[in-house]
Amino acid sequence: MDLRAQNDECLILRSRDFNESDRLLTVFCRNLGKMACLAKGVRKPKSRLKAATLPFVCGQLEFSASPRRAGQLGQVGGQGLRLITQGETLHSLSELRDDLVKIGAANYVAEMLDWVLPPEKPQENLYILAVTVLLLLAALEEPRQQYLLLKFFELRLLGELGWRPQLEGCARCGRSVASLPAPLPGAAPAIFTAPALGGLVCSTCRRDLGWSLGAPNGREINNSSGEAISKGGVRILSSLLDWEPRRFLQLRLGADLSREVNRALWSYLDYHLGQGSLKARKNLLLYCSEILTSPA
Ligand SMILES: [Zn+2]
Repeated sequence: MDLRAQNDECLILRSRDFNESDRLLTVFCRNLGKMACLAKGVRKPKSRLKAATLPFVCGQLEFSASPRRAGQLGQVGGQGLRLITQGETLHSLSELRDDLVKIGAANYVAEMLDWVLPPEKPQENLYILAVTVLLLLAALEEPRQQYLLLKFFELRLLGELGWRPQLEGCARCGRSVASLPAPLPGAAPAIFTAPALGGLVCSTCRRDLGWSLGAPNGREINNSSGEAISKGGVRILSSLLDWEPRRFLQLRLGADLSREVNRALWSYLDYHLGQGSLKARKNLLLYCSEILTSPA
């Protein structure tokens, strides 16, 4: 650990009241990674740190150099805590604390990051992704665009963690998505997500592998065995992986395709991220399901 590095640009992932006037924070720092921090006296009316320690604020914070043992600061579960000594707000992102849907969506981003980030390990690309997503979320008013932004976040998160899905064709036989036949109405789907294979699988290979066939049944949270996806759904995922936000935010997809893309993406999250991401996604469904079902 670099004891000289005491000042960093940060995002407040979690902020909860502690003692009479303190806050316990989970902070994602650009260069230092995720840290548990204590901000003392910040709930007093005249605290200069009050604004910089609210949830989702992006700021410049100064910390005590080394973590303190919890016993020195109170009963907080034995984790090393850093004291925040100074702070300055760079982006207050107040929109994310004023609008119920945005609170739910921003909480989702924060919970997912909290789940995947190991303590005090630098993850600058993920930090840049997080700030980009929260700044855009604060500015976007249309549920359609908020939906696309969350799907972009999920895909890029997978990519940064080393699980970018390969979407060009079947991971087993190599046939391209374009060359696979479009299924007739009522027939079994031709393409499925295959998280264990790193991308997609065609229906023939899926059958050869002994994986059960079946049309999606409307579940939003599944058991990671993969989900049927149309060519249109694959195109949406590819766009979210490769396009800049100002381009993919123009995409229009109806309610059915929105749900299909959601199920497909969540099959990857189920497989790679497991329980913690499941909890975050259940909370997301609870607080802003309209984002996930809103037609274009
Ligand atoms: Zn195949």
